[in-house]
Amino acid sequence: MLPWLNPARAGALLDALRERILVLDGAMGTMIQQHGLQEDDYRGERFAHGYDALYATHGHAHGPGCGCGHDQKGNNDLLTLTRPDVIAAIHRAYLEAGADLVETNTFNSTAIALADYGLSHLARELNQAGARLARGVCDAVEAQDPARPRFAVGVLGPTNRTASISPDVNRPGHRAVTFDELRDAYRDAAEGLLDGGADVLMVETVFDTLNAKAALFAIEEAFDARGARVPVMVSGTITDASGRTLSGQTAEAFWYSVAHARPVAIGLNCALGARELRVHVDALAQVADTHVSCHPNAGLPNAFGGYDETPEDMARVLGEFGRAGLLNLVGGCCGTTPAHIAAIAEAMRGVRPRVVPALAPLPSGGSGGSGRGEVEPDRALDPAPPPPNLSLHAQGEEQNA
Ligand SMILES: [Zn+2]
Ligand SMILES: [Zn+2]
Repeated sequence: MLPWLNPARAGALLDALRERILVLDGAMGTMIQQHGLQEDDYRGERFAHGYDALYATHGHAHGPGCGCGHDQKGNNDLLTLTRPDVIAAIHRAYLEAGADLVETNTFNSTAIALADYGLSHLARELNQAGARLARGVCDAVEAQDPARPRFAVGVLGPTNRTASISPDVNRPGHRAVTFDELRDAYRDAAEGLLDGGADVLMVETVFDTLNAKAALFAIEEAFDARGARVPVMVSGTITDASGRTLSGQTAEAFWYSVAHARPVAIGLNCALGARELRVHVDALAQVADTHVSCHPNAGLPNAFGGYDETPEDMARVLGEFGRAGLLNLVGGCCGTTPAHIAAIAEAMRGVRPRVVPALAPLPSGGSGGSGRGEVEPDRALDPAPPPPNLSLHAQGEEQNA
């Protein structure tokens, strides 16, 4: 195991995890929406024409009519460069609401996801700037309350492509992205986050375990190159009522697939509300010999794509998770706001963190190895029979969900 890149920060995180349930922040997108930003806000000066004025691609200097311009509205990660005031204010609002950890505004900052906006070349810069911005706000808030450390979590999102399933029902063997393309993209992103001072790296909203394995592989490469590491968190997403990820795994199978990376925490986020996640968080809490995290959406999306659970609703449900001994880290995903995080933080006050169990090592093959895409067949989707209270959909149905 490599030494910590920043031993004081890693030590402070591990100490805090022993003492209490740590609070993650809530949604970034939900908060950005409230600012009603328009195309010009997203573009700023540097991207005024829809392309990067500082970077000429395709062998020409950009100019009017060169065809490289893209609409940037909705490219939330670009706001780290063009409206850092907005992103910093969101980080600060979450820290002031009681979050111990804030997530960088880098969910889509991979060359793969940025290709939709013609800005693939920005991946490393956005990750570095995103980590620096989040760390800077943590520093400012810590300075007012030095007894309580705050952490910048460098976020690596799932990308908008899936490596293990075909997006085209007529071509089941087709893949929109390869392991190596993902690995290269994640390497670039991870290097940026580390350069920017991220205290932790989190591979989150994992719907395809193969994508996550590419991210974890790239992270290990980045650590090897530096001769030092930061703590890594992994958080999957259960995409339908059958209780599986998009690539078909139960929560336990997902854990066994990523355990080789020795993450400081394994968890679930997004997609479902807290209530629907309980059985799956419980499953992780029983099998994982590391910390367990949960940052759910504010309920299931309603007919308008919004989220209805109030801060009190979420705090009541997650408070019970905490008292049941399931949690080491808790926060919110889509639809959550600083008010949700404040209520959740309040619900965790005085609640003891889950005790990380010392478990027997996995049978050979279940851990170790390179982690390069292989999944042991008998553990691939179901390491154990599903709990009786889950109604399983037909296999074909869930793949299309
Ligand atoms: Zn051009
Ligand atoms: Zn979400």
